[in-house]
Amino acid sequence: MRLPEQSYAHPAGESPVYDMLLTCSKCATCLPACPSYAATVRETQSPRGRVQLVRALEEGRLTNSEQLRESLWTCLDCRACETVCPNGITPGTLATHVRADLYAGTSLGRWLKRLILGPLLSSPGLLETGFGLMRLAYQRTGLQHLVRSAGLLKIAPNVARGERYLPPIPRKSVRQRLPEIIPARGETKGRVGFFLGCAMNTVFADVTRRSISALGKLGYEVVMPKQVICCGAPQVSLGELDLARKMARHNIGCFDGLDVILTDCAACGAELKHYASLLDDPSVETFSRRVRDFAEFVEPLVPDVTADVGAITYHAPCHLAHAQGVCKPPKALLKRLCPGYVELPEHDRCCGSAGMYWMLYPEISDNALARKLANIRATGARTVATANPGCLLQLIAGKTPEDTWTVRHLSEIVDEALG
Ligand code: SF4
Ligand code: SF4
Repeated sequence: MRLPEQSYAHPAGESPVYDMLLTCSKCATCLPACPSYAATVRETQSPRGRVQLVRALEEGRLTNSEQLRESLWTCLDCRACETVCPNGITPGTLATHVRADLYAGTSLGRWLKRLILGPLLSSPGLLETGFGLMRLAYQRTGLQHLVRSAGLLKIAPNVARGERYLPPIPRKSVRQRLPEIIPARGETKGRVGFFLGCAMNTVFADVTRRSISALGKLGYEVVMPKQVICCGAPQVSLGELDLARKMARHNIGCFDGLDVILTDCAACGAELKHYASLLDDPSVETFSRRVRDFAEFVEPLVPDVTADVGAITYHAPCHLAHAQGVCKPPKALLKRLCPGYVELPEHDRCCGSAGMYWMLYPEISDNALARKLANIRATGARTVATANPGCLLQLIAGKTPEDTWTVRHLSEIVDEALG
């Protein structure tokens, strides 16, 4: 993609982030947390390096160049640096927003990207049809089995990589299977809204049905507006902020009258909680304050029951632990439900999935995944629980035939424990 080598300097005092950039003390606390730095050991691919590059850009000492864009685009947006920075600097958020500005030119690549991120992700029906066709033509015909067993993927490593990420697709999406209002089981204690993420509605439909089932068992009526569209996270991550803002406006309107909005997708939850800053509209704060992750909501409600899952550990999705700051509830829940709970070393370190990152920068993604897999193996756990579709896909794809553990969403464990 050819892009204009434009200057980015803001006139003095007009940059919205310049004051924050000045507070970086270059202390390096953020470096050990950063997966792109761990994989490359290059300062330009570290949070501190990115902050200094954006500062130089703002001051007009740098222009938009291929090297600069690479430095910003190799950020996984995992936000681990933001959790540890003593000065409250947000290098991950900064990188995603600045790269959106640097890609302001027009090109065929951008047009195609917008077509996928806009019309396709704005239409759950279109997405469901696409996955349905893939299931019928590739998985149900046995073609997938043939391709895998005949070793055909060895001659096309890039295709093989994408293929690894395709788990069995359920016959029906959540939207197709469940009504818009799902009553509580027994006495109704409350009513909650439920935001259906794109991957959870389709590829992980069976998981989300367990999330909704658990809420019903806890006495909650679930309202699942079927007109919701993609939350906007892929659009933000790939620099299409205008598209993301349109989607945010649409989704906010779907939850009128609901005091609590739940989701079982950590990436969606992080985006919904940040709609006010995305739209730069303080009135949207009231919407974002109503959003809760599934684990955050159910942790105080689940009674003392047990899930018979043996040794289990927990991988914290970046968008739950770092972007939402939800660290304790998932672990507290699993510790209470599962007598065999074991702590995962570096449990909140990125697994390398990061949306489509695994496809764009496979070496860095693989480096992060290898570290995660080594940590999982060291626990001896039979089950790895997590709470985000990207992490589920990455860990499933990374497993080798020797790995006997299974990867499950935390809500499946909760639903199982509730009987
Ligand atoms: S971004 Fe924060 S943690 Fe990293 S070098 Fe600057 S002040 Fe230190
Ligand atoms: S968000 Fe993650 S990948 Fe990006 S700079 Fe921060 S720690 Fe590194």
